Amino acid sequence: MTKPIIYWLRQDLRLHDNPALMAAVESSCPLIPLFILDESSSALPGAASLWWLHYSLKSLADSYQELGTPLIFRRGNSKDILKEVMAETGADKIVWNRRYDAAGISIDTDIKATFTAEGIACESFNSHLLFEPWTIKNKQNKPFQVFTRYWDHCLTQKPIPPLAAPTQLKGVSILSDKLENWNLLPTKPDWAEGMRETWRSGEKEAVSRFRYFLEELVETYKIERNIPGKEATSRLSPHLAWGEISPRHIWYETMQAMHKHPKLAIGAQHFLSEIGWREFSYHLLFHFPDLPKIALRSTFQDFPWHYDDALFKCWTKGQTGYPIVDAGMRELWHTGWMHNRVRMIVASFLIKDLLISWQQGAAWFWDTLVDADIANNSASWQWVAGCGADAAPYFRIFNPILQGEKFDPDGSYVRRWVPELKELSNKVIHKPWTASREYLAAAGVYLGKTYPHPIIDHDKARQQALAIFKTIKKAP
Ligand code: FAD
Repeated sequence: MTKPIIYWLRQDLRLHDNPALMAAVESSCPLIPLFILDESSSALPGAASLWWLHYSLKSLADSYQELGTPLIFRRGNSKDILKEVMAETGADKIVWNRRYDAAGISIDTDIKATFTAEGIACESFNSHLLFEPWTIKNKQNKPFQVFTRYWDHCLTQKPIPPLAAPTQLKGVSILSDKLENWNLLPTKPDWAEGMRETWRSGEKEAVSRFRYFLEELVETYKIERNIPGKEATSRLSPHLAWGEISPRHIWYETMQAMHKHPKLAIGAQHFLSEIGWREFSYHLLFHFPDLPKIALRSTFQDFPWHYDDALFKCWTKGQTGYPIVDAGMRELWHTGWMHNRVRMIVASFLIKDLLISWQQGAAWFWDTLVDADIANNSASWQWVAGCGADAAPYFRIFNPILQGEKFDPDGSYVRRWVPELKELSNKVIHKPWTASREYLAAAGVYLGKTYPHPIIDHDKARQQALAIFKTIKKAP
């Protein structure tokens, strides 16, 4: 009798464009689709991502059931569970889609070496990226460190076209944990209400969200993507983080839409270049595996960061007294997501106004974002800090007032997330402390009571940061 094949799922929670799944299907062996919750892994998802994972797995399990086989859930050390399942079923092949973080690569390499030596066939595939990081090199055969050059080079290549989803699956039914027993959802307290209101996880939702974006939003994407008060971006990030939609699918459908409707070209190309930033982040993560922990620019490694729990808490709770920063941090807490422009503003505020380390900020994002992604999060925080590849220069310190006035000119974003300021005029909504006490009182705002005074003077903080960053820049 043909021995079964294990398809080990990780961050590839979809049926379409799934090379490992299709390789398993084409082998004609009975399939065991296995998801392992491995809490011994160092890159364990944060709380908001685990919330997402629960619903994503639930939806995928339904899709597997519709195709005729159950999705199997097990919890424990990946290698031990794979051994256990092989012993139970006699499976002698394992396939998976690759991951690119150092901890993941090390686990996979060890598993491949151990099992191959025991006569178990192990095969891995690319499902997460347009291009494997080791295939994109500059003229000196080195990894790119400047995004435009990287992306120009990528645009000379063509990603492999996406694969169709299987139409039926022939599987083996074995013991499975109950997803509900994994307790991935918060209960006491249940902090996920805002996330439930905002999101639907799963492959079907990802694909329909993408179609909606192509039909309704991509045309104006380049112009409106920086306005946090508008729904102007794809909001695909959590779906991409868990692999509910594939970058190749996105690439080919966007290209097709652009060819069919040339008026979409400007928005579509810009959108693809953002997918390019995702690729670039993975490129950096693969070639610089310490990216999540250590500044790429060595001169930053001894930066005199402040450790101030009280200030950090004000930032996490959206109580800094700077309305655009507070709006972003409250959007994050409520929905598990924050607009990209505002991510840059709040990150700059933490690093350059409060002088709190980018690693501390990245850790908070890791726990609270539904789209927490080890490559994008690490590369973006390093970018804002000015210590990453192709990073913002150290002297670019976002002014939270001017940023608010420029990108939220009608104050709608602040009014939504900081409702205690909603009666203020557009003129003062980004700097309430400049208004008279009488005016504020008439709008129901009492600084220090209903809304905080600024926790730091931005102009002074800027001068202090510039002085420190200059010394860092000069360090040998
Ligand atoms: P769109 O504008 O519609 O872009 C489409 C896709 O392109 C996104 O879903 C994302 O996968 C990718 N993308 C867009 N911008 C970037 C970028 N600057 N860098 C890398 N990829 C990008 N993104 C994450 O997916 N996970 C994170 O953990 C994360 N942490 C961040 C931390 C900071 C400090 C900053 C400044 C940015 C971070 N980003 C992160 C990047 C970006 O903010 C989000 O990808 C984007 O806001 C998601 O919204 P969207 O899907 O509507 O994006």
